[in-house]
Amino acid sequence: MSTYDVIIRNGQVVNSDSKFQADIAIKGGKIQRVSVDQPLEGTADKEIDAKGLHIMPGVIDTHVHFNEPGRAEWEGLATGSRSLAAGGATAFFDMPLNSTPPVINKENLQAKSNLADQKSVVNPYYWGGLVPENIAELKDLHENGVIGFKAFMSPSGIDDFNNADDETLYKGMTEIASFDSILAVHAESTVICDQLAKEKISQGKTSARDFVESRPIISEIEAVRRIISYAEATGCKLHVVHASSRKVTDLINEAKNKGVNASVETCAHYLALTVKDLEKKGGLAKCAPPLRDSDEVEELWVALANGEIDMIASDHSPAPASMKTVTDNYFEGWGGISGAQSTLNVLLTEGYHKRNLPLEKIVEVTAVNPAKRFGVENKGTIAEGYDADITLVNLEESFELKAEDLFYRHQHSPYVGKTFKGNVKTTIVNGNVVYDNGKIITDEN
Ligand SMILES: [Zn+2]
Repeated sequence: MSTYDVIIRNGQVVNSDSKFQADIAIKGGKIQRVSVDQPLEGTADKEIDAKGLHIMPGVIDTHVHFNEPGRAEWEGLATGSRSLAAGGATAFFDMPLNSTPPVINKENLQAKSNLADQKSVVNPYYWGGLVPENIAELKDLHENGVIGFKAFMSPSGIDDFNNADDETLYKGMTEIASFDSILAVHAESTVICDQLAKEKISQGKTSARDFVESRPIISEIEAVRRIISYAEATGCKLHVVHASSRKVTDLINEAKNKGVNASVETCAHYLALTVKDLEKKGGLAKCAPPLRDSDEVEELWVALANGEIDMIASDHSPAPASMKTVTDNYFEGWGGISGAQSTLNVLLTEGYHKRNLPLEKIVEVTAVNPAKRFGVENKGTIAEGYDADITLVNLEESFELKAEDLFYRHQHSPYVGKTFKGNVKTTIVNGNVVYDNGKIITDEN
């Protein structure tokens, strides 16, 4: 009988605070031994030679929309989770909307988690929604395990998930603070965006640039300032999702310095793509807040390197190709980028290789900080006693992303055709190899 389930030999471990050569032994889904100075003794059912590879904690993607139940034709838990595994992710936090019914009460949470238990190949976690109708349900959702709550400060684009008006935000945050959970917000100003959109459309101005100008950075700033005030007034923990500019992340850091319990996420696409990509790729690169210009992108990289951004997520929000078509009116067509499979590739290519972003920083914003901020225990670090959620990466291997390599329900993404440097070779979830060299392993068993 073997001593362990899996042994990974000769790899270079990357944690958020260290890098070292080690052998790793896994048993019962946990990292049992990390042998730093000498070869690990013992045998395993599966031995992996990681010579030349880096061993990183699996990415925890805190922001995805897998749309199931109810809109599985847009994505789905099986396809979405497989795309994550192929991209080196071992856990996701699914947003409460786009699935139908939305996760605004315990029953709907249960329905989604039952499906995820059957279909997901990585660890699922769930956001609960905060909408005007469900303040009385929040505590129940919290007690049933949501990792936090999500509200929209502007229309969500989904009819069954209403945005939270100011009264809902204030009351909801008061309630959420009472049981020490956290509110995540999509922060854009309805007033600013609506007025600008009306103006543009009435003048027949509907280009990519017009769409971007209708959702300016000041709209994010207005909403973030307001929600910070509510966080101060209610004592509710705050998390701002998909900040598109350093001007936005600056506000959250100012608030933190004043003692507000706040954190901020940006997404890989705000670090990798610009308005020019939106002009070239149309609906595939449409999202809200929209992509910005290259000077804003560079500032975000500076913020990331400086520790001003807590985490990077995908905000994977796919839809069938027919809904992504933009002709000459960029105000039409579903906004949402398919990116769950590419987050680590973007950070390695554009960050580590192009801008000297340390690997440790990548681990911090993709694994350690998500685990710590949302109380996901025993994940995000390669150490004895932690869950065996691991990705093996070849940093020097380049590849061109092809549509047929995507595990999404709909094989499209603004990254198709891009050459990435840094390729995910193997992903291990709870001690099981789920992805290896281009294939999802569970599908073959
Ligand atoms: Zn989202």
